[in-house]
Amino acid sequence: MTEKREESHTMRDKILQVLRTNLLIILMIIAVIIGLALGFGLRNVWTPYETRKIFYLRFPGDLLMNMLKMLILPLIVSSLITAMGSLDTNASGRMGLRTVVYYMTTTFAAVILGIILVMTIEPGKKGSKDITKTGKPKEAEPLDALFDLIRNCFPDNLIESAFQKQVTTVGNKTVTPKDTSSKLTTVLNSTLANLTDSGNMTGANITDNSTTSIVVETLDVTKASGMNILGIVVFSLFLGGVLSKMGEDGTPLVKFFECLHVATMKLVTLVIWYSPVGIIFLIAAKLVEMEDLATMFEQLAYYMVTVLAGLLIHAFIILPVIYAVFTRKNPFSFMLGMTKAILTAWGTASSSATLPLTMRCLEENNDVDPRVTMFVTPIGATINMDGTALYEAVASIFIAQYIGVSLGIGEVIVVSLTATAAAIGAAGVPQAGLVTMTIVLTAVGLPINEITLILSIDWFLDRFRTAVNVLGDSYGAGIVEHLSRNDILKPVEYEVDLPNKQEKNGIHPPQINEDNCETKM
Ligand code: ASP
Repeated sequence: MTEKREESHTMRDKILQVLRTNLLIILMIIAVIIGLALGFGLRNVWTPYETRKIFYLRFPGDLLMNMLKMLILPLIVSSLITAMGSLDTNASGRMGLRTVVYYMTTTFAAVILGIILVMTIEPGKKGSKDITKTGKPKEAEPLDALFDLIRNCFPDNLIESAFQKQVTTVGNKTVTPKDTSSKLTTVLNSTLANLTDSGNMTGANITDNSTTSIVVETLDVTKASGMNILGIVVFSLFLGGVLSKMGEDGTPLVKFFECLHVATMKLVTLVIWYSPVGIIFLIAAKLVEMEDLATMFEQLAYYMVTVLAGLLIHAFIILPVIYAVFTRKNPFSFMLGMTKAILTAWGTASSSATLPLTMRCLEENNDVDPRVTMFVTPIGATINMDGTALYEAVASIFIAQYIGVSLGIGEVIVVSLTATAAAIGAAGVPQAGLVTMTIVLTAVGLPINEITLILSIDWFLDRFRTAVNVLGDSYGAGIVEHLSRNDILKPVEYEVDLPNKQEKNGIHPPQINEDNCETKM
């Protein structure tokens, strides 16, 4: 009798233990379910035009987004500087190379998968041919977008890069040339020819001594709102690298950023507990806001199935296989460890906002060395977007199929390259991929107005591709850690106190002697 009671006690303790360790995941899953139920329920009572009500409904969700975004800046800066500062330059160089190779390979694999699926399923040739077009797309010139990407790596003002980025803006102005030299005439005539070709003006010609007014293109670099994460990442990497080279002299600053990192991660813990509440209202408000869900799903069913199939194959087959081949570990228990981050990515549709949770899950549940997490994930959240790349390839070929343009092999190659570049350039914020997709369309000569075909469904697919983006970053950290295990075991010139995670991994970092900063093994 007593034995039986003891057994049931241990059973109950075990269940409580499991519930306690997985409480947040359970709460997040419940939050998603409540969010969906609340959203669908309110759709019956409210119309999508009751904007004020929807605005208030989203309020707790906006708070979550703000809290997560607030942590991005201290987290990225402190993580990268601590990681770079605590690794020797060779180790960080090798780790950097592995990271970039992994990111490029998996992104390209995602694009190829997307292209194969969209060319096989041909969603643009199936289903309703009468898709409602909504909104207006933003324009982007491929070369300007590429230059903006590079320009943003080197912000002219570091403080400003926390809230603004640089963008090329194209306009035009009317000039009346006074210089009548034949050289100017030639230049103006070629400008005129370009403008006429691009449809910006009708044909005109200038002869010497002419006083004709003409419209010329103006290019300017202006500032647009939004954090220039790429610039901050590049600066932090260089600063961390220099501090590492400075050895003992650089230690105080590395220590400062290490402390900032630990403190920020503690703040992350607080925010994480609020995330189920925020997720409920983000999902509910989005559902109420959508005008005609049934028609939208019906019209774009094949397109949706193609994108989702690609994302599922990438998430459940390609990435796990790559992880298993390199690490010989179980990829699905790794994936399970990332559940909180994946659910947050789905709820917020922002891989940058999910970054704090990604780091936490990697370190806490998957025992990834913090030095690797700190190095790999901020870069991943900024440039590695497998889901976005796959989606951009599928969406642009879908548009071509829909409007009846057949793409040759050359154009498909251009799609694959520009989709990779566009995904790298996309910010980790909701629906950023839709904006950079104009690069892909322009590169293969497809009308960017046709983006409006897929606008209505983008918010939905965005959640899934963001989850895949975060998963890709996470597997990357796992693989890079495995490949770099010999490098990070090596003694460094000096060492900072990292959270005790390495002990768990069997990695024993060198101990710092505070007095003289000597490395002890
Ligand atoms: N929302 C995505 C992210 O944050 C980017 C995109 O594909 O729009 O990763």
